[in-house]
Amino acid sequence: MTYQNYSLKQLQQIDAAHHLHPFTDHKELREAGSRIITRAEGPYIYDSEGNEILDGMAGLWCVNVGYGRNELAEAAYRQMKELPYYNSFFKCSTPTPVLLAKRLAELAPKSVNQVFFGSSGSEANDTALRLVRHYWALEGKPEKNRIISRRNAYHGSTVAGTSLGGMEPMHKQLGGAVPNIVHVMMPYAYELALPGESDHEFGLRAAKAVEDAIVEAGPEKVAAFIGEPIMGAGGVKIPPMSYWPEVERICRKYDVLLMLDEVITGYGRTGEWFAAQSFGIEPDTITTAKALTSGYQPLSALLVGDRIARTLVEKGGEFYHGYTYAGHPVACAVALANLDIIEREGLVDRVKNDTGPYFAQALRERIADHRLVGEVRSFGLMGAIEIVRDKATRERFEGEGRAAVVVRDHAIASGLMLRATGDTMILSPPLIWTRETIDLACDRIVKALDLAEKDLF
Ligand code: PLP
Repeated sequence: MTYQNYSLKQLQQIDAAHHLHPFTDHKELREAGSRIITRAEGPYIYDSEGNEILDGMAGLWCVNVGYGRNELAEAAYRQMKELPYYNSFFKCSTPTPVLLAKRLAELAPKSVNQVFFGSSGSEANDTALRLVRHYWALEGKPEKNRIISRRNAYHGSTVAGTSLGGMEPMHKQLGGAVPNIVHVMMPYAYELALPGESDHEFGLRAAKAVEDAIVEAGPEKVAAFIGEPIMGAGGVKIPPMSYWPEVERICRKYDVLLMLDEVITGYGRTGEWFAAQSFGIEPDTITTAKALTSGYQPLSALLVGDRIARTLVEKGGEFYHGYTYAGHPVACAVALANLDIIEREGLVDRVKNDTGPYFAQALRERIADHRLVGEVRSFGLMGAIEIVRDKATRERFEGEGRAAVVVRDHAIASGLMLRATGDTMILSPPLIWTRETIDLACDRIVKALDLAEKDLF
């Protein structure tokens, strides 16, 4: 029986009765019912009531090549018929992860040439945490095991992901994080820069917080620093250009590994294949997932730098870690076909030279002046709109997140899927968006802001 045999009401009732959703207040969901998305094509998603909604979030920051790509379905189908599954344990391999690993090594910064596969970004960060600690143990420094992260960071939802992340409510529910992880300030100038401090100076000060944490712990105890090049779930927080090169310099100075979490920024979103290239840095690990397959299959790839890989090979000894679906042949076949599309259509270059700059200009010229908007910012095709009660003083509305939800609901009703996090509206569209799609999105944002203004004042 297919879902078409059920009415929307029935699907919602079954959903409420049996399906526990991620990151959801289940009481609220019972009351409201879920929006059921049934199909999608190009930049649009369609719900079970037939509404066409422009997807401003690329699913969940992942559908970079847009929906309805037969080529990806065919790649999965061919691979499923030939070899649906075999593992990469016990000195076995299958062709598609081998070829994908080679391809990723070619795309990544030049000192990054090895790949460890998983099925999700969270899993990949678990791997990254285990790997950097294993690395220092192999180097004869098992006490060099602390990780420095940032407040408000998001690194996934497994125990290790939650612990690496800096989301307080998640830590509270976890009730005991993985030990030896500390969190320092995030590089978010709009809220944290001092009066008169330039962006450049603020970036250096935020990087200094990393140095202070290393010195306080003792460099001989610090394994690595981890960060999203641009914080995503925490509200598209874009650091000043001075931040990352300085963090890299500090990590090298104290012999601390640099881990980048590019689960959102990887595969073109910033106008380069990886944000590491946008910021000109060479990390020791790069966590990737989401757009690796454009979300058509669950797959993550932890890209591992030569320094760590060399030690693994030279020192030997089993790394006691891995997943049944590591290097899943079907997911890897889809990833290869997805990278073909991104390359063939020149999507990375388009973000860098066309849609990215146009998106920034459109936000600035059409959204920034609205009464409800404190700041707009973007990098490539990720952007944010800060919702405020008072533009001049940056005062927020009462009840954190309440106003942004009002804007979001109007946006969805106006035909644009946006996300609200705290008091921030987030955009992370498919990379197939054109200037015309950006114009259409801005029309709908303006409409949503106007309607929200009426509700909120
Ligand atoms: N890291 C970052 C930066 C993310 O944004 C996410 C998910 O949004 C994750 C890790 C976790 O990935 P997943 O949900 O695939 O486990």
